[in-house]
Amino acid sequence: MTFEELGLNPAILSAITACGYTIPTPIQEQSIPLVLAGHDLIATAQTGTGKTAAFVLPALELLTKKSTLPGKGPRILVLAPTRELAGQVMESARNYGRGIRPRCGTLLGGMPYREQLRLLSAPVDIIVATPGRLVDHIERGSIRLDRLEMLVLDEADRMLDMGFSEDINKIVDRTPSNRQTLMFTATMEGDIARLAEKMMREPKRIQLAVSTSSHALIEQRLHVTDNLNHKKELLNHLVSDAELTRAIIFSATKRDADELSRELSRNGYPAAALHGDMTQMARNKTIDRMRRGGIRLLVATDVAARGLDVNGVSHVINFDLPRFAEDYVHRIGRTGRAGANGIAISFASAGERNYLERIERFIGKKLPELQIAGFEPKTSIRKPAGRSGAPRKSGPGAPAGRFGKPAGGRDGQVKPWSKSAKPVSAPRSAARHEPVIEYRSRRPQA
Ligand code: AMP
Repeated sequence: MTFEELGLNPAILSAITACGYTIPTPIQEQSIPLVLAGHDLIATAQTGTGKTAAFVLPALELLTKKSTLPGKGPRILVLAPTRELAGQVMESARNYGRGIRPRCGTLLGGMPYREQLRLLSAPVDIIVATPGRLVDHIERGSIRLDRLEMLVLDEADRMLDMGFSEDINKIVDRTPSNRQTLMFTATMEGDIARLAEKMMREPKRIQLAVSTSSHALIEQRLHVTDNLNHKKELLNHLVSDAELTRAIIFSATKRDADELSRELSRNGYPAAALHGDMTQMARNKTIDRMRRGGIRLLVATDVAARGLDVNGVSHVINFDLPRFAEDYVHRIGRTGRAGANGIAISFASAGERNYLERIERFIGKKLPELQIAGFEPKTSIRKPAGRSGAPRKSGPGAPAGRFGKPAGGRDGQVKPWSKSAKPVSAPRSAARHEPVIEYRSRRPQA
């Protein structure tokens, strides 16, 4: 199917062409006709599937017809959980809408009111908002939603996770009941189904399978860590091997990204940080340096790495696990691109157990746990599964020959970061979901 066949306005089609899109993604192909036909829609799709255009394009199509309703309130309202996501949606609306030139803007928490009030002082076509700030405006009387034709909840599951349920209800109460409602969510678990039932009329459903097939070439590994220092030691060990040609290391905060990249640079590895506090120009420069090989290690936060397209990333290292499972899938997709193999290594300390469980539920499998001699954790992250469930330790304490012959190179040395490294088969008694993999460290034993 082509974009032309979807029946979009020529002004929108030329903007899509200018963006370099040739064919719709599956989520666009499925949802755009339903939205254009006026249906409510629940779509289960992750970031990276093209979901933004799936609702922005039909929303723009709606704007090609004039509103007959008086007032200044928005005709389209998109609610998003974070400022970053809202910013991306707005950018997409501006890009795809360049031929239509909708009057649009964002209402985001933590941003000054003055500009937002100016935006609302004249009739507006599209508003992208975080729920809390929109409720502020509703309560101040600076926005009315009685002209609203389409309400979009982007990453609805995440908004509920973040405690926006009450705000969303307040907002929905102010909108006309004949509006069209679209909901995008990574999961239908929890309160999402209830929310959908309350606010949607006979919604059509689209479920995009979690695409793990594109990750078939990515080897995923888990290292349990005791604390921050342990993570740092392990990281320094992993990046010391030449087979790690180019890595993206994900940290939870911007500060950590800065600090880690500084430490890695101090240790002699060409590294740089990439996060939202940097100007777009600084970010572009960093990405460019990575592309040209001037940087081997990029320490990034999720938001900054979204859409990042650098070839030849041999490793993704989750220094911290992401809070949201879809970000995990998104992160590891930075490696193993275009048919190449890749390795995704995740560090997880006890405090991240919930995140780990969420990720494993989402991807439908347990991450195999690895240990490197000399860097074994003192703690376990798994709930006790009986005696045989404990991860095996490698190194001098391990009974001789217990795991059979070590796999790997000619000298029996196995590099834990090596693509060719093969797990040593675990004893039969090991718990099903806890494959124990022993590697020999090249480092002298402490
Ligand atoms: P999203 O899932 O909306 O965050 O989109 C992920 C990325 O896919 C963004 O960088 C979009 O610019 C890009 N994208 C969206 N639709 C298409 C398309 N039909 N063809 C190529 N790229 C697209």
